[in-house]
Amino acid sequence: MAVQKILEIPNPILRGKTTKITKFDEEVRKLITDLKDTLASAHNPEGAGLSSNQIGIAKRVCVVRNFKDNLQANGVDSVPSFVEKILINPKIVSKSKENNIEWEGCLSVPNQYGRVSRATKIKVAYQDEEGKRMKLSATGFFARVIQHEIDHLDGIVFTDRVKGKLVPESFFLEQE
Ligand code: ZN
Repeated sequence: MAVQKILEIPNPILRGKTTKITKFDEEVRKLITDLKDTLASAHNPEGAGLSSNQIGIAKRVCVVRNFKDNLQANGVDSVPSFVEKILINPKIVSKSKENNIEWEGCLSVPNQYGRVSRATKIKVAYQDEEGKRMKLSATGFFARVIQHEIDHLDGIVFTDRVKGKLVPESFFLEQE
């Protein structure tokens, strides 16, 4: 268990370049563990994803959560509340023309929320923890989380994309 400090804006590491992973070695495995542990330690608010540069490592690795709200709302308790995925060297290979606008927040931007337009459907190419080339399709909130994290790897923070005002949590909760 190695919980790392989550960097906050305006830390320049959040705006810098990240490099591709080429060796799938012990160092990458440690980074993955740190990302998972750090995300798991975030409460109030919880996070839906975390990128390496948010913990100070400028490499193209992120962890994303695919939430199972839907199943739970239907009384299925035996499924986990989310499934976590590690994306190494992720790249969006296609995007729907259709976008939607939803509220977003970020563990690196405390107590600020804003509405961001994102593609509703994406296809992503990435590598898994062993370096195997994989693809996934994502829709809805999961697609949003992946786009938010890949933005981080490109030095983009969600506030760059906000339509309208950034608001504090108290205001955001009233709007939900
Ligand atoms: Zn973020």
